[in-house]
Amino acid sequence: MYLGESHRRTARHTLTDLSPTADDLYITDVPGKGKGIIALRYFQRGETVLAEPPLFTQGLVRSAASVRAALAQCPPEAQHAFWELHNCHPARGSALGTFETNVLPCGANDAHGRVAPRGGVFATAARLNHGCAPNVNNAWDAARGVLVLRALRDIAAGEELTLGYGALLARREDRRAELRAKFGFECACEVCVLEGKARAASDARRECLAALYGAHLQGAYGDPFDGVGEAALALRLLREEGLPVYESSFCYSGFHCCAAVSDYVSAKAWAVKAFEASRAAFGEEHASYWKGLVANPNSYADAGSLGRRTLAGPDSPLWSVLGF
Ligand SMILES: [Zn+2]
Repeated sequence: MYLGESHRRTARHTLTDLSPTADDLYITDVPGKGKGIIALRYFQRGETVLAEPPLFTQGLVRSAASVRAALAQCPPEAQHAFWELHNCHPARGSALGTFETNVLPCGANDAHGRVAPRGGVFATAARLNHGCAPNVNNAWDAARGVLVLRALRDIAAGEELTLGYGALLARREDRRAELRAKFGFECACEVCVLEGKARAASDARRECLAALYGAHLQGAYGDPFDGVGEAALALRLLREEGLPVYESSFCYSGFHCCAAVSDYVSAKAWAVKAFEASRAAFGEEHASYWKGLVANPNSYADAGSLGRRTLAGPDSPLWSVLGF
């Protein structure tokens, strides 16, 4: 967790003077960020990096008293682990401030505003620092009662693991302002340290992605060809910005448009990509929605609802020819 000072992050760490935690991870001091988690080995995209039960959880309505009461029920080592964590909200008191600094959702927070009914604090996952191009994603496994961190992309041994704390589809100044207000630090991740033309290009890509994301969540893309083209454009911008966590949402748009016009070859290609992206970020069970649609895209509820047309899949050369 960040301590508030600004420092350019180091991309690699030597594997000496580290203290062990889970088998393949180390918690160590990261310059300018307090503690952080370093991968001790290569993780493949989609691989589980950590599965961890909470120290304790709280509902959405919570107070210093409710946090202290829950903490009192925990074994001494869990209480010790909690009090070791950073508190960036000292005005809210030590217990509630520490909880709110480190809480992660035990359920699904989604793009439609639904909020997980409970939040928990995790001894190891709480050490994850923020990155504006995060390399892990968190998902709650209700059956096992654990938070699962998955690699969003291939991660090299020695890389720091990072999670997105705030809105990522925003310009640098807006991302930094949100992180400053909520967590009291100045983000100095590899995206935020870009300058000049590189920063302007990154800001432009994220602004474009934010507009596309908002429109596609509501299905607001007039013609199916525009919808598929925008989805292909979004995938390119996500690749350039290092934001694979949004891929599956845009693949849904591409799939919907192709299935609606009965182009089941292209629809299947979008469904395969959606399945792979969803499995990498959220796990096999979450991705199972796509399995049936990969096999039978014409079983989709809106299949064939518009006039028959031929569009294109996500990796079609058409998109680069057209400049998407
Ligand atoms: Zn940043």
